Amino acid sequence: MLTYFLPNEHVKSVFDIQPATLKNRGIKGIITDLDNTLVAWDVKDATPEVIQWFKLMKDHDIKVTIISNNNQERVEVFSEPLGTPFVFSARKPLSKAFKTVANEMGLKKEEVVVIGDQLLTDVLGGNLADLYTILVVPIVQTDGKITKFNRKIERRILNYFRRKGKISWEE
Ligand SMILES: [Mg+2]
Repeated sequence: MLTYFLPNEHVKSVFDIQPATLKNRGIKGIITDLDNTLVAWDVKDATPEVIQWFKLMKDHDIKVTIISNNNQERVEVFSEPLGTPFVFSARKPLSKAFKTVANEMGLKKEEVVVIGDQLLTDVLGGNLADLYTILVVPIVQTDGKITKFNRKIERRILNYFRRKGKISWEE
């Protein structure tokens, strides 16, 4: 059961994820979380680095959709200037939004990766949708209220995986 919380891969930052590596593995689409994955949860707009990363993916024909549990205003204000499709109030970890987006992209499961900073929403949801999951280190260590609670559980799960030798990275 806990293996549903285990990401396929772990990287420091979304910017470590580059088109060449994805393309080599046949990846054509990215489903990414917003808060603490692309920018800090309390930062309204995309940073120049984020804008550049989206452009890079576009130039390489890799589709990107933002899926967030946050509200319409937050997700829309951030996503629209990037010209990227988005889903707000996504109810992660339910797998529905992930499946719908992969379908809308017209891609097979094997061609889509999920990127996010939380085990309990992004990784669990991506895994339940049977997609390849990449965990990133949260951009800032502070969080909204619900996330704070999730982090406590997350820490326990990560420690369990560490004890079992399933993950090797440090926090
Ligand atoms: Mg997040």
